[in-house]
Amino acid sequence: MTRRTTGRLADDREIIWYDVDGSPERSVPVDPRDLPHTATSSQMRLDPLTGEWIALASHRQSRTFMPPADECPLCPSRDGRHTEVPSEDYQVVAFENRFPSFSNRGEGIDPVDDGLEQVRAGVGRCEVLCFSSDHDGSFAALTPQQARLVVDAWADRTSALAQTPGVEHIFPFENRGREIGVTLQHPHGQIYGYPFVPPRARTELASARAYAERTGRSLFGDIVAQELADGTRVVVESEHWVAFVPYAARWPMEVHLYPRVQRPDIPSLTDAERDDFARVYLDVLGRFDRLYSTSMPYIAAWQQAPVHQDRDLAWLHLELFSIRRGEDKLKYLAGSESGMGAFIGDVAPEQQAQMLREAKA
Ligand SMILES: [Zn+2]
Repeated sequence: MTRRTTGRLADDREIIWYDVDGSPERSVPVDPRDLPHTATSSQMRLDPLTGEWIALASHRQSRTFMPPADECPLCPSRDGRHTEVPSEDYQVVAFENRFPSFSNRGEGIDPVDDGLEQVRAGVGRCEVLCFSSDHDGSFAALTPQQARLVVDAWADRTSALAQTPGVEHIFPFENRGREIGVTLQHPHGQIYGYPFVPPRARTELASARAYAERTGRSLFGDIVAQELADGTRVVVESEHWVAFVPYAARWPMEVHLYPRVQRPDIPSLTDAERDDFARVYLDVLGRFDRLYSTSMPYIAAWQQAPVHQDRDLAWLHLELFSIRRGEDKLKYLAGSESGMGAFIGDVAPEQQAQMLREAKA
């Protein structure tokens, strides 16, 4: 389905091109830049108050912030200008982040655990995934075939990162829009291979475990069935996928996309499910962008099963949400949300679903 070509950047980072079958053979380009090997010194500290790991990656302070379009590091290398992608064009490409939050390349630090203070090396892996070579494009502007290629790249990266020593959880995501804090405009996402199961995934799995013990059933499966039966929060449904606003949405615009059948992660999706996801996701993103006069800032967050645990309990889904709550209004995470983790909703979930259903092409 997809052709994969692997190479190395000047500082030895791995880069992988993904091309649809039938594309011309790609020879592995050489990155001519003189790049210093980045010293990564990530560490993780355990917060004894919450039991959550906090990653410290101070080398990230020097990373690129909103360069002009003609200096974009994610565009192909053309006309003598060398970027992170040493080829004149590409379809989809993934490479190791030059400023990773987690990395196996660092010198490492000695783990400490004296009860109150626990520190470990921030091992793992962070990658950038460029969705398109078109600097002014967006995920929503991809064709279904291009979007399908991205799904295949997510699947391949998930499988590859699962083999990376220390990686316990793999998180493909996209931050879109300046309002979200995007530092590069070029359409791209990221993939984190965390050395732990992050809090949101842990919470969802704990809920699913408790539900299964109580009822013998899948929490995620029952949610999908309930949303389909009720219908008031469903935005789009297709042969293999359901997109709905969750019953207790925390964001002013929030849509979750679930496969109808339990799958632990992206690699386990069938060809038909991948094709169908591309169509449904593009449909939902199109609705997002039609809500207001300018395109929607959003975060798209994949929830996959952890690498080594809860493979049967988890149910792959994508959580898509925006902080935008009106034409000129953003939701800020203020006192209740930031100070207490208690979300106050601005737009009723049923109203969100209604708005999105009406925003069809
Ligand atoms: Zn670019």
